[in-house]
Amino acid sequence: MPSELNLILLGPPGAGKGTQAERLTQDFDLPYLSTGNMLRAAVSEGTDLGKQAEPIMNEGGLVPDEIIIGVTLEALGEADDGFLLDGFPRTVGQAEALTKALEERERKLTAALLIDVPDDEIVRRLTGRRTCAKNGHVYHVEFDPPKHEGVCDQDGSKLVQRDDDKPETVEKRLVAYHDKTAPLVGWFEDRGLLRRFDGTRSPTEVHDHIRATVATLRLEDEL
Ligand code: AMP
Repeated sequence: MPSELNLILLGPPGAGKGTQAERLTQDFDLPYLSTGNMLRAAVSEGTDLGKQAEPIMNEGGLVPDEIIIGVTLEALGEADDGFLLDGFPRTVGQAEALTKALEERERKLTAALLIDVPDDEIVRRLTGRRTCAKNGHVYHVEFDPPKHEGVCDQDGSKLVQRDDDKPETVEKRLVAYHDKTAPLVGWFEDRGLLRRFDGTRSPTEVHDHIRATVATLRLEDEL
């Protein structure tokens, strides 16, 4: 039986998880699930989930486990051939629920890929980030500016600053990360699942390192 890759991307907001996810899902042909994207879609569609999540997201807080665990596990239910999860788990409770749900299906996590970036760098990255209003293409005013200020190179739509990328919200998201999500680093380490990557390197270097690690994990699993 070919081994399946059940991967988690871990790291502070703005570590580059989305960028790496785009590349890794192509490398390994994995379904990608971002709880942040899922929640933003729910907000723009005005669903019940979106209505509950919107004020919390705009404040930089975390959507309660009782809400996010159910919707994420349901979305994952279809990914029975491996997955790449971005933005989940974000609490120990979420990690325990995910592990249990996988065990019930005789599956297990392959690894948690931690992209490490210090706080001051995160603040610089997130507050300079601009996102295209239509399709979510991402730019940075300093590191990756669009050809024409305020306009998406790819589809010409307006570039906006996500509410949760505003400076005061970024600070709150970092507090939430350190309080609730950083304990997961030790949690995964204790279970032998943690793999660390230096997220201050260029996106290409980070990608090369992660890809090599994941390829090795897959080989080891097949032996
Ligand atoms: P992200 O795009 O992953 O940074 O997610 C944006 C926002 O969605 C976060 O700041 C949280 O408010 C919320 N969110 C995303 N994933 C989760 C999760 N697993 N648990 C709780 N809240 C989440």
